[in-house]
Amino acid sequence: MPEQPTGAVALTVRSLRKNFGKFVALDGVDLSVRQGERRAVIGPNGAGKTTLINVLGGQLVGDSGSVMLGTRNLMKKYPHQMSRLGIGRTFQISSTFPRMTVFDNMLSAHVCSASWWFSLSAGRLKRIKDEVMSELEIIHLDRMADQVVEDISHGDRKRLEFGMVLATKPSLLLLDEPTAGMGLQERHELIDLVLKEVTRRKLTLVFVEHDIDIVFKAAEHITVMALGKVFAEGKPEEIAKHQGVQEIYLGG
Ligand code: ADP
Ligand code: MG
Repeated sequence: MPEQPTGAVALTVRSLRKNFGKFVALDGVDLSVRQGERRAVIGPNGAGKTTLINVLGGQLVGDSGSVMLGTRNLMKKYPHQMSRLGIGRTFQISSTFPRMTVFDNMLSAHVCSASWWFSLSAGRLKRIKDEVMSELEIIHLDRMADQVVEDISHGDRKRLEFGMVLATKPSLLLLDEPTAGMGLQERHELIDLVLKEVTRRKLTLVFVEHDIDIVFKAAEHITVMALGKVFAEGKPEEIAKHQGVQEIYLGG
């Protein structure tokens, strides 16, 4: 068995199943992620990675099994409840508001995690605007605050999405292909930013990624999925020389 990072278990998934009609998308997934761990989930297209992230984020409800965040059972919770419990996620397909400005997108994420909305004084409004601007600075979009999102580049949009999920102040971050569709340099810049913020905020990270260089750069531990199951698990160096994993990728 691969050595596990020390620290309390943040996320435990046991025998998780999800069917779409007769199709079995998750076929008894077990996963255990420790606090502060950076875990990559990889596997061929159709392996069930996005379905797993959707169940963890509350966008889908698992048919059976359990998902625990610490000691809390997350099965059958809604996305907004997951968010309140500290789970933040991004989507494989961009999920910003295209007709709104960069600033207003970030403001909307900020508002989602706040409890002040029922009493909004002028002083508080000013403070919120400052907070939104500093959140935009972290993701290097402060100078684009007034631009409409549909006019900014794909890479900037992916960075905005990451910033928006950070603004909800998660403890567990779920990223589904955060670098999809980006150029090589942009991919590395985004993942460096993710690693910086994850470390600084002591977050637990579970991310799905196709770019194997990014996986090896960012992950401490890798879960390989195939046909809705966990096919292999281990440290990057163990997965790199795993015969079966090489066959899945070469074959698929
Ligand atoms: P991955 O992210 O690993 O590429 P997915 O989790 O998106 O895979 O999909 C796993 C399988 O489940 C695929 O065969 C996909 O076609 C199927 N699937 C995913 N979502 C649905 C859905 N809403 N309805 C029917 N089938 C689905
Ligand atoms: Mg996917």
